[in-house]
Amino acid sequence: MKRSGYDAVVIGAGAAGMAAAATLSARGRSVALVDREGDMGGILLQCVHNGFGLHRYGEELTGPEFAARLEKDVRSAGIPFFPNATVLSIAPPSPDERRFRLLVSSARGIEEFLARSVVLAMGSRERNRGNVRIPGDRPAGVFTAGLVQRLINIEGYVPGSRAVIVGSGDIGLIMARRLTLSGVTVEAAVELMPYPSGLARNVTQCLEDFSIPLYLSHATTRIIGRNRVEAVEIAPIEDGAVRTERARIIPCDTVLLSVGLVPENELSARTGVSLNPVTNGPIVDSRLMTDVPGVFAAGNVLHVHDLADRVAEEAERAGTACADWLDAYEAAPGRPETAKEVPLIAGRNVRYTVPSSLSPEPTPVLLRSMVPLDSATLTIRQDGSLLFAKRLAWVRPGEMVRVDVDVRSGIRAQAGACTVSLENGNGEA
Ligand SMILES: Cc1cc2nc3c(=O)[nH]c(=O)nc-3n(C[C@H](O)[C@H](O)[C@H](O)COP(=O)(O)OP(=O)(O)OC[C@H]3O[C@@H](n4cnc5c(N)ncnc54)[C@H](O)[C@@H]3O)c2cc1C
Repeated sequence: MKRSGYDAVVIGAGAAGMAAAATLSARGRSVALVDREGDMGGILLQCVHNGFGLHRYGEELTGPEFAARLEKDVRSAGIPFFPNATVLSIAPPSPDERRFRLLVSSARGIEEFLARSVVLAMGSRERNRGNVRIPGDRPAGVFTAGLVQRLINIEGYVPGSRAVIVGSGDIGLIMARRLTLSGVTVEAAVELMPYPSGLARNVTQCLEDFSIPLYLSHATTRIIGRNRVEAVEIAPIEDGAVRTERARIIPCDTVLLSVGLVPENELSARTGVSLNPVTNGPIVDSRLMTDVPGVFAAGNVLHVHDLADRVAEEAERAGTACADWLDAYEAAPGRPETAKEVPLIAGRNVRYTVPSSLSPEPTPVLLRSMVPLDSATLTIRQDGSLLFAKRLAWVRPGEMVRVDVDVRSGIRAQAGACTVSLENGNGEA
């Protein structure tokens, strides 16, 4: 079996993997970038709409254009890229070897990569009908939204003529517009929650601008059709109950499911990385290191992001932290370092937070709210005392919140956990 050795192996060459690899290489580290697909870019390659790059490049780019910029960084750094290569397993370092052993399958057969550190950047996959258990028939014509995006944008195939979007995630919203522009009549988007789960800008630009109705607080109660989808049945939700007596039928031949993404972490779990049950992503400290020392995570594998710009920024932080960790490791090989961090817990109105612990150093914290709030205050408290507060004009569950947290003046390593909350109004800043 062929063996190669690197300081770091980055698994996945989407926005996260490319940005992490380029950062590690800029720090003088040998790094291999591995992807099971034939090209770099990941999900960006099928996102032909614009809306990428505004934060990072100050320009509005399409997904492939955004990917091309990151790919240029990887290519110009001379980073070895292994396409069509799937990482099957990561064996933890043995006491004498002190390197991870990654088994990689490709047309060349099975190869072994040895590395002191690993960056997980495997992205996410879509929830499907089985995950959300929609009752009814099982006809042809039910797709996940991302699959239809691929069919139209890459394969050149329009899957039907009348569509209903189930869910209001960003991919579904973007596909409502894409289908309309491809000549398909989009009858409605149907959302279980009382608010959209995608970005506000996508609701405006992809539904309202095309007069596509959005039914909030509605359940999809049945898919109807023997061979091909003929209709869906939807019913309003009131006081937590589905009012089936007020159900209505929407004729259509195509159903797109936009009901969320799940981080791809089977490989991480097999490696012994602990996962957060809310995000389905690794639990990481403020350096974005998992609880397996030397294994870092960034991008959608860590938590589902709304913007590729934020994925790339997070991955650069993971790459920098990985390089710092390698420096420290080489300075004192074999001595396990212990991070002096305090657990960070999601409190009132916070669905999750990344990272899961805070260091005394300034740290970017990303989180999502449970419900929409206008004029919220984000607070961080330790044992009841306020360490940090920041006013936010509004928060929405579909839009990630990113705050630079500095608790240097107040945090106590020996005290209890910190709790991050989103409070209505002004809080106690
Ligand atoms: C439909 C859609 C529309 C979007 N629209 C916008 C937008 O308008 N603006 C914006 O800023 N953002 C948008 N985003 C968000 C943004 O595109 C993503 O958050 C970002 O691109 C995710 O990057 P990633 O590297 O984490 O994951 P991915 O791009 O999914 O990359 C993961 C890579 O890992 C590889 N991989 C997985 N497992 C293995 C393995 N075991 N071995 C080897 N390789 C592996 C995969 O093949 C893949 O290439 C959109 C996302 C989607 C899905």
